[in-house]
Amino acid sequence: MTDCIFCKIAAHELNAQVVYEDEDFMAFRDINPEAPVHVLLIPKQHLSSLLEVGVEQADLAARLLMTAAGIARELGVAEDGFRVVINTNDNGGQTVHHLHLHLLGGRFMNWPPG
Ligand code: 5GP
Ligand code: ZN
Repeated sequence: MTDCIFCKIAAHELNAQVVYEDEDFMAFRDINPEAPVHVLLIPKQHLSSLLEVGVEQADLAARLLMTAAGIARELGVAEDGFRVVINTNDNGGQTVHHLHLHLLGGRFMNWPPG
């Protein structure tokens, strides 16, 4: 989608610190990290939020989660633990309207979130 920063990152038109990439997904370091490990995992396909995930995206959604777990292992935060977050719309705190999963680790995370 034109003017979507995450589409541009997925297309290598904008720079990012990429930690994982395959045909359907890309993961890169958040520009404003909230934890020692803060990675954003996106499908390359533009879906504006979790609300656009329907049955046609069931396989993509499953692989999104498995890929997140794999990246957590690769980055060494799996055993100590990590958090996966998908902010959705205004109350969820979504600021970039291209579906993305936050993978946060490397420190203890409080609950509930702010
Ligand atoms: P949201 O608030 O939508 O859940 O998360 C958007 C995230 O994208 C924020 O944590 C923000 O720091 C990150 N972000 C915004 N623009 C860029 C960018 O151009 N590059 C990278 N690497 N992260 C970005
Ligand atoms: Zn996009």
